[in-house]
Amino acid sequence: MKKDTILYLVIPCYNEEEVLHETTKQLKTKLQAMIKAKKISNKSRVMYVNDGSKDKTWELIKEINEKEELFTGITLSRNRGHQNALLGGLMTAKNYADVVISMDADLQDDINAIEAMIDKYHEGCEIVYGVRSARKKDTFFKRVTAEGFYKVMKKLGVDCVYNHADYRLTSKRVLEEFSNYKEVNLFLRGMFPLVGFKSDIVYYERNERFAGESKYPLKKMLNFAWDGITSFSTKPLRFICVLGFIILFVSIAIMIYSIVQKILGNTVDGWTFLSISIWFIGGIQMICIGIIGEYIGKMYQETKARPRYIISENLEDK
Ligand code: UDP
Ligand code: MG
Repeated sequence: MKKDTILYLVIPCYNEEEVLHETTKQLKTKLQAMIKAKKISNKSRVMYVNDGSKDKTWELIKEINEKEELFTGITLSRNRGHQNALLGGLMTAKNYADVVISMDADLQDDINAIEAMIDKYHEGCEIVYGVRSARKKDTFFKRVTAEGFYKVMKKLGVDCVYNHADYRLTSKRVLEEFSNYKEVNLFLRGMFPLVGFKSDIVYYERNERFAGESKYPLKKMLNFAWDGITSFSTKPLRFICVLGFIILFVSIAIMIYSIVQKILGNTVDGWTFLSISIWFIGGIQMICIGIIGEYIGKMYQETKARPRYIISENLEDK
């Protein structure tokens, strides 16, 4: 077992004044118990990331930091959204911690899973994904859309952990490597699997938000989902090409049909030529757009400049 593991809990907060006190109380108890059990070092901290809140969140975080030794915080200059706030927190926490766990301020993610995650870390895992075992407490709409989303992502070839949000443990090592992913459109839950290393899953039940409202209204959620798809998959561009070929095949059928109609004398002058042209040109144009799309897709991948490989061990260094 790795001794004296410094754990940082990174918690993005946007207008969370209603939940901070309770969250602090519960996390304090949890961390103290874990420190006592020698699972983590007493240098472990909870790091609140104020994401440009408009309410008293930052004042509260400062107050908590003064009163409580285990709590610290950073604040962003303005609201940058959950994923950016989380990244800011992770990149800051990695300078102090051996291992970082990210979670939401509303404690919807069961804090008892923290221990299970740390255990997996001690067993040698570098990333541990928190996965919802059930969505009983989600509304029917949220459940269907969220699960549908993960399925679509999978179809599009994105390696996403099913039903995993941003409740996850990452080691310092992983975060160091992760800092080389410079992309601006963040979809963290899809990016961490790209880093690799030994990983595992911890199941937990997701609770309801105990106070305040969701900071992810439907519009933000849809934007996030769309970002996830377009940041990871260029398959939609390939669909254009496929569609082009389908239309080209249809145009052959239309050609035969039109010529038969012409021979049977069912047409007016010029109809055959026009109907064949429209379908044929349509197909050709769609294929051309698809081909341009293929190149744009390649350029998109290149501009991301993601690391091409990460070496996890080199025996020369031993
Ligand atoms: N959050 C944030 N910036 C934002 C929106 C949300 O930092 O612009 C934080 C929020 O404070 C919470 C987490 O992201 O800690 C998840 O948000 P929320 O619980 O409202 O989302 P839901 O659980 O409803 O999907
Ligand atoms: Mg929530």
